Parts: sequence; structure tokens; C-alpha cells
Amino acid sequence: MDLEQGETLLEVDGLTKYFQSDSGLFASINVERDRFPPVSFGVDHVKAVDDVSFEIEMGETLGLVGESGCGKSTLGRTILRLLDPTDGTIRFKGEDLAEMSGEELRRKRSEIQMIFQDPQSSLDPRMKVGQIIEEPMRAHDMFDDEGREARAKELLEKVGLDPHHYNRYPHAFSGGQRQRINLARALSVDPDFVVCDEPVSALDVSIQAQVLNTMEELQEEFGLTYLFIAHDLSVIRHISDRVAVMYLGHVVEVADKTELFENPQHPYTKALLESIPVPDPRENGARGVLEGEVPSPIDPPSGCRFRTRCPRLIAPDAYDWTDEEWAQTRAFMRAVKRRTFEPMRAAEMEAEFFGGDLPRGEAGNVVAEAIDLLATDREGTGNGDDGVDAHESTAWETATERLLTAFAERSICARERPAYEVESAYGDGEHFSACHLHRDDR
Ligand code: SF4
Repeated sequence: MDLEQGETLLEVDGLTKYFQSDSGLFASINVERDRFPPVSFGVDHVKAVDDVSFEIEMGETLGLVGESGCGKSTLGRTILRLLDPTDGTIRFKGEDLAEMSGEELRRKRSEIQMIFQDPQSSLDPRMKVGQIIEEPMRAHDMFDDEGREARAKELLEKVGLDPHHYNRYPHAFSGGQRQRINLARALSVDPDFVVCDEPVSALDVSIQAQVLNTMEELQEEFGLTYLFIAHDLSVIRHISDRVAVMYLGHVVEVADKTELFENPQHPYTKALLESIPVPDPRENGARGVLEGEVPSPIDPPSGCRFRTRCPRLIAPDAYDWTDEEWAQTRAFMRAVKRRTFEPMRAAEMEAEFFGGDLPRGEAGNVVAEAIDLLATDREGTGNGDDGVDAHESTAWETATERLLTAFAERSICARERPAYEVESAYGDGEHFSACHLHRDDR
């Protein structure tokens, strides 16, 4: 099936990939001492990719970006069916790859190729470059020996290498050149779609731009479509037409490149962009950093997965807040959860976090309870022998639990998974943002 430029080549819908978190005899036995009974049976799953949907048009490059461990490589491999999906569809030229197996899938693979991160380990050191490039053609019964050699030499030239290097071994090449060999091998079977998994992140910055430029030239010449996976936003900015941002197994924002970089809407995307190092020597490195740890993909947060780190967490409707009261409470809740301050007297805590005035009504009562648990001038709190330390630790845990249950867990961010179309400020492309801050814009 031949598609025109701009037609949908790949349509991923609800794609999900879970891994069993452990294996072995006792893998399904869970021990939780604070529950009764303390032993339960069941298998935990790492939710690496969870209900992801997007499309890629013929001839475009979709950049896929996110911190390491967010699921972007797993997503790429699941699309290629190097991993079996747990759920969802992967429509490639209208056919569902998720349903394919055996010979049907093997034949389809000539149309879809992958380039891996490490050009060193993805090339067999015992094979000559010519053999490496010809291998996929041989696997798909393309051409005779002469035809394969001619194509391999032609591709060496196309990727910027000398065709006379056909008989050399990979170790004779630099990292950038080895990645060019990988490119030639991927292109040998004339694919339409190439998944590029961090293809330049192992290369020197000076070489990266050269390889990216070659990839763009090849895309133009061969009409290729790329899914380009990277953690480096400057690489994504260089190569992409559109960008999808991934966080903890979910796609949280998708927009055209300029729109995404100039008008980011999701708090996670904004934080990522702010964490790009500033080239100005007067500025001190990155402008902002993401607070907190990425939660476990075995038990990800409900609703919006970014909510445990989000600086914009939405106030729960259950209380009558002013914006300032909620901002103060949110900062206090975060500080208690992360234990970022030394124990102090109740009045000092009220002054430090609330300017001396606690929120009004029921919200204020909850805050006062938490302060009571932590304040050094309250009964039973303080430092000293082990018993008091243990008490203090319990007090932090209880205060955290009280605040999270009363506030964070009641926010719409915890209760509903967000998905909104927002208006683009740059161009007329679609802009998706998985953030409830847009709920009033609809
Ligand atoms: S939905 Fe809530 S927690 Fe998630 S990014 Fe938006 S404001 Fe932050």
C-alpha cells in the first residue's frame, strides 16, 4: 500500500506494555507487615507503557522525549513488535501489527527498521561492513549476491562513507561512522518507517549534528518517516517536526515542534524545558530542576502521573481556598512529605509556611493537626534517644499521610486522568496536553 506524504502511516491506539516485575519461585508472594493477613499472592506489573495513543504521518519525524526510564524505548520496541504488546493496536498502513505473527510479521519488518543507541555493540565485530549491510537484504531475499553488494556500496556512499570500506571491520570506524553503517543497514531493505532509539546520544556533540543532518538528507531522499527517541531536547529540537513528551508510561503532551518549545502547556514539559542548561556563563547552569523522585511504575500515581512532582497541583474543591492559601498549603505539604525542614516550634512553622495565618475553615484545621504532630513544643516530639527518634519519624509519616489524604488525594489531579486539546499559538497543528489546568478552557 503506497501512501502519499502527509497521510497517516502509523496509528497507535491504547498501546500498553506491562512487564512482570520479578520472576522465580516466590515472585507472586507479597509480604506487607502492616496489613492483615501480612502475606498476599499476586504478580506486580511494571507499567512501562500505559494506554498510549498517537499518529505519525508519512514523511514526518515525531520526536519522543522524556527522562530515562519513562517508557519511551519500550514504546519504540513494542511498536516494532520486538516486544509483545499487553493491549492496544498498532496500525501500520492500516494493518494492525499487534495482531500479526510468524511469516506475516517477518515480511512486514522489511518496511519498519530500528537504529539503536550504541553503534559499537549493535554491529557484529566479526562481520565485515559489507556483510553487515547486506544481512537484512539476505533475510528478506532481496537481490542476488551481486545486487546486494552493489546496493551496500551505494548505501555506504549515501550515508557519507567510502564504498571502498566495504571489506573493513567495524573496529576500523569511529563512533559516528559506525552509526552511519547502522543507518546503511537499516535502509538496505528500503523501509518506510525507522524507529531511532537515542541514535546520537553515544556520540560527541560535534559529531551529533553531522549524523542528524545525514539522517535528514536520507529522509528527504528516501521518503522516510522517523520516530526519533531521545532524552536530549536540543537533539529533539534539531530533528523533529512534532514532539511527544512521555512521563512514567503516559504521553503527556504532543504538539508541533515550534508550538511545543515556544508554547509548552504541560507542567512537566515546562519543567523539562527549564532544566535545559543555559549557555550564558553568567547564569548558573540549568534554570530549574524537577523536584522529587519519579514514582515507581509498579504502582504509579492515580489520575495524572506527574501529580506527585507537579508544582501546579490543583486545589481540591472540598475546601474554600484563596489562591494564596492553597499555594502555601501545597508548599507545606510538599516540604513535610520530603522532610525538607528541621523540626521547629509551631509558631515558627506557621510563620515560615503561612506568614502566621493558617488557611480558614476545615483546611486550616488539617494544617494545624499536621503542625501539632511536628512541632518541637508539642508533647512527645523532639530529638534524643531512639524512642524519641522513632516517635519523630512516625510523626512525619502521620503528618504526611494526613495532608496527602485531606488535600492531594482529593484533587482532580488524583481522581481523573487528564486529556485535553488546547489551542495552538504557533500554526494550526493539534496540541494535546494531559493536564487538568485546561479543564476550564474547553
Ligand atoms: S493534571 Fe494536575 S498534577 Fe497533572 S500536570 Fe496538571 S496540574 Fe499538575
